Amino acid sequence: MRFRLLPAILACWLAPLAAAQDDSGVARAAAEVEKIRMLVAEGAVPRARLEKAEEALADARDAAYLRRTLYGPELTEQEADSMLEAARRRLVRREAELSRQQTLVEAGAVSRAGLSEPLESVDRARRELDLAVSRANLVRAIAEAVRIEAELAEQLEQNRLDSPDVAQRFDGSGAFSASDRIRLESAFQREFARPLPISANGQTAVHAALGFDHRDRIDVALHPDHPEGVWLRRYLESNRIPFFAFRAPAPGKSTGPHIHVGPLSPRLAKGG
Ligand SMILES: [Zn+2]
Repeated sequence: MRFRLLPAILACWLAPLAAAQDDSGVARAAAEVEKIRMLVAEGAVPRARLEKAEEALADARDAAYLRRTLYGPELTEQEADSMLEAARRRLVRREAELSRQQTLVEAGAVSRAGLSEPLESVDRARRELDLAVSRANLVRAIAEAVRIEAELAEQLEQNRLDSPDVAQRFDGSGAFSASDRIRLESAFQREFARPLPISANGQTAVHAALGFDHRDRIDVALHPDHPEGVWLRRYLESNRIPFFAFRAPAPGKSTGPHIHVGPLSPRLAKGG
């Protein structure tokens, strides 16, 4: 299940950011483009050098964007798409460089040892792309779950949904406090010897982009009818903590079943 990726991805998000370093890489590449542009204008260097410098600048920008998005705070779906595009462009550039080097090696112009660096670069870019794909999948899974939850929550609110096969509503005391949450997480850990699988923690970039207030609420990636989900529902009921258990995914959707803990998410005021 895709939610299982969460701990690994979270660990990556927490990697310290070298934002200043990113900016200086872009600034250096931009200065180089300007310098070469002047040299080309003076006829001191061939035009091809300018194209190469511009390519290096585009690559530095992609690298900076990737560092921000791969290891930075949470993303919207749009940012996840841009992140994937940047990672793909980085890989394509490195593959092109590798094939240029291979041509030189075959022509006998450089030794085989000249291939090791471009090979490593391709490898690194592939790993970077793999990470971007995992993170983008996670963002999409969260967004899909947010949409489904929003759709079903609206139906629950308007009492249009009374089928327990789809969703179960428990209002409890009407609130889910920070201390309720700490107690819940440690009770789950004690019971199942693993952390509570939280798939959406409070307000996320995706909730904000879709216009929902998810503060003081969490989504737990458990099927309401699997043993851990059954335990969780009983725990919440006996502690009078509100929850919504979503059983069926919306038609054509792969993500769906989960337990939302806390009151329903109201729609955010437009522009707020
Ligand atoms: Zn939720």
